[in-house]
Amino acid sequence: MKCLWCMNELIHDESLSRYLLSEDCLCDTCRSQFQVKPIVITIDNVRVYSHYVYDDFFKQVILQYKEAYDEALCRVFDYQLEYIKKMCKGYTIVLAPSSLSRLQARGFHHVKKMVEGFKLPVLDVLYKKKDITLDTNRYQDRLRMQENIGVTKDMKCIDKIVIVDDILTSGSTIKGCKKALEKFSKNIIVFTFAYNLTWQNEN
Ligand SMILES: [Zn+2]
Repeated sequence: MKCLWCMNELIHDESLSRYLLSEDCLCDTCRSQFQVKPIVITIDNVRVYSHYVYDDFFKQVILQYKEAYDEALCRVFDYQLEYIKKMCKGYTIVLAPSSLSRLQARGFHHVKKMVEGFKLPVLDVLYKKKDITLDTNRYQDRLRMQENIGVTKDMKCIDKIVIVDDILTSGSTIKGCKKALEKFSKNIIVFTFAYNLTWQNEN
């Protein structure tokens, strides 16, 4: 077995126990480059959980996965997330919308693959009304983003929803998803794999 990132032979210390327990697909050196700092914050009265800091290393790996279509890397992100999986028991995952053009180019929904290990029902019902890339540094664009998310007609009321996205940056996607879904569920939480460090000081 080779590390999915550096391609070196996969050797784990601690008498292989870490590998056997978790089946980590990264070597210890690559794994240690991730900054694991779980946070819980509130955005628009919704609890948001996030696990990794969105730093340069995370960015490199997720870009390789998303933009270089390196599908196998989806397993990298689902590591030691048992606490989140336990918390999400009984919830239905609703995927944050992906840009349609990118989805078609990639051939797979990147967030959908990332949550396979959650073993929860997954709904892909959110979409961007306009397939545009917005500059989230601009206030006007952030507002447009919040209005730009729609939900498909087949959506039904659901008891508990966890909205899942890969990265929490400005928070406007999350706000837009919540707005689109709030009439379908009274119990909505959010999980993003990584978050922009600016969120760490929020709570
Ligand atoms: Zn490695």
